[in-house]
Amino acid sequence: MKWLWPALRSLFAVVVAFFICQLHLDYIESFFYDSRMAYTPGKTLSNRVSLVMVDAKTVEALGGTPKFGLHAEALRQIQALKPFAVVYVSNLKAIEGSATEKSEFASETSKNPRFYHVVDDLEMKGESGKLRLPAPLENIPLSSGPKTADSKILAKDGVTRRMLVNYQDQFMLHPHLAGEINTEVRTLDSIQGLVDLYDSKQVYMRFQKPGSFPRLRFEDVVQGKLDPNLIKDRIVLVGDDLQISHEDYVYTPFSRSDNFVTRTEMHANMFETMIENSGLRKMPFWLTLLLTGLISILTVHVVLLLKPLKGILILGSTAFGFALVSYLLFWIFDVWIDLSHPFLAIFLCYYFFIPYRLIVENRKSWEYFQKNKLLTEVEELKTNFIGMMSHDLKTPLARIHGMTEIIVKDTNPLTSPQREALDMIKQSTEDLTKFITTILNYAKIESQGVVLHLQSQDLNEILKEVVRKNEFLARVKHIQFVLELEPLFSIPVDPNLMKQVFSNLIENAVKYSPEDSKILISSDEKDGKVIIQVADQGMGIPEDDLGHIFMKFFRSRNAKFSSVKGSGLGLYLTRYFVELHNGQIFVESSPGQGSTFTVELPIKTN
Ligand code: ADP
Repeated sequence: MKWLWPALRSLFAVVVAFFICQLHLDYIESFFYDSRMAYTPGKTLSNRVSLVMVDAKTVEALGGTPKFGLHAEALRQIQALKPFAVVYVSNLKAIEGSATEKSEFASETSKNPRFYHVVDDLEMKGESGKLRLPAPLENIPLSSGPKTADSKILAKDGVTRRMLVNYQDQFMLHPHLAGEINTEVRTLDSIQGLVDLYDSKQVYMRFQKPGSFPRLRFEDVVQGKLDPNLIKDRIVLVGDDLQISHEDYVYTPFSRSDNFVTRTEMHANMFETMIENSGLRKMPFWLTLLLTGLISILTVHVVLLLKPLKGILILGSTAFGFALVSYLLFWIFDVWIDLSHPFLAIFLCYYFFIPYRLIVENRKSWEYFQKNKLLTEVEELKTNFIGMMSHDLKTPLARIHGMTEIIVKDTNPLTSPQREALDMIKQSTEDLTKFITTILNYAKIESQGVVLHLQSQDLNEILKEVVRKNEFLARVKHIQFVLELEPLFSIPVDPNLMKQVFSNLIENAVKYSPEDSKILISSDEKDGKVIIQVADQGMGIPEDDLGHIFMKFFRSRNAKFSSVKGSGLGLYLTRYFVELHNGQIFVESSPGQGSTFTVELPIKTN
């Protein structure tokens, strides 16, 4: 059932993802959408669109807003340079002028089969002729080109992001004209990023940075001061930038709150999107669902299984990587990945599961605490028990030892088997006493620690005494002690503890050495330290065990399998005592060759 929890977690994540995907997150998504639009480098322009603008300076230069007479003149100048098409965005109904001027303008427009006037109104099927201007302008073809800030999908904030391509099976002006430049947009099937909305087909436009299209001044055009390259074969849009009428401006992804873009520039963007066929391709819903699901599963697992910092780093880099990929896809392949749902999924899954994780962690640490408490209590009991028992054993042992001595020293002759038996009893009691002393020391360290009783001592003297005590043991195994003791300064040490340190090392050397070998015991002073070494030619210690031999109750593999007895406490106590003196102990050893233990003690203790 190991898979059950991960499976349940994943299922939960998928359910959360599913519900998140049902939410309309237009506000968040439009923010991500606009940032991508605004921060991607602009696409190279088709160079087929130009603007002729009437602005405040034009009014100043011409002594008033241009009337139909001037418009007719401007149109003449433009049309003389063979534009691909002329599209009037300025509201022709609002332009003033005498009947003659109007007729003059109308006749100028009739000379160009590709002259259009775009209006915001939509002509439905069966309504043809609705969008007609009054005479004498009645023959000017009117085309609808409404802005799409229709308060609906991704446009609630009044920002224009979409354009109409086809309404009730009729193509709008933009794809119609662009289709003559780029044949791809003549058929609906090959228009990139087409979406069905209500009764229409629409496209999310690729906006250029404001000011990207070449802009000519109306007054310059009237005076014939215009660059022919900016007119020839181009769609020339004539519009207003008078900053008077709200109608003339729109919000775009580049200008969400201030800095409106003119309606004329919006139309330029519509033409450009169609000419380049660069409408944005929205990711299908199932892919959004899949990505949100995967991200939710990842978040849930990261929150529940990883350490918090690592989790945040992984989630942060996933979110960042995801945003980066979506940015690149947007820029290079015109693909628009939904970011709001996956990001919301990360956020919700994270905050939903953090409390759960905290509860689990809390329970774990409580259990751990309880277990630890129990273990400490057991450990204390064990130490106390060992201490008590060893202490109680010491007295009868001392008695046996004493009695044996009395019998040995008795003048009555003993038979040789009796003497041998007595020797054995004496030796065993000594061994047992030593063992119990070790255990008692251990119990003391564990319960209350050891207090140092420092005296100024020549360590060589202690060494010689320990060697002397072990000589009998060494002789039995024909082991020879070689002493190389340099004269030493006396240093403050606890003589009892030092005796135990050296005894442990020298006894071990004897215990773990074969017969007829040598043990070198040396002392020296170097770099403000007294250095004592005990080197044997014994069985050595396997490399894997070297790091553990100073741990309590540890015995190396080869020692365990040999006949040599031991508690595994000697070196633990040795290191403890050496460190109490601010010293250090090291070992070097190679199996079969021997071991060298080095004790370093500072000459000055502080
Ligand atoms: P023990 O009572 O088992 O000797 P110690 O704590 O004194 O316990 O030593 C721990 C272990 O270190 C020993 O069991 C043995 O495996 C290894 N050891 C210690 N001294 C030597 C040595 N001189 N030569 C080989 N192994 C040694």
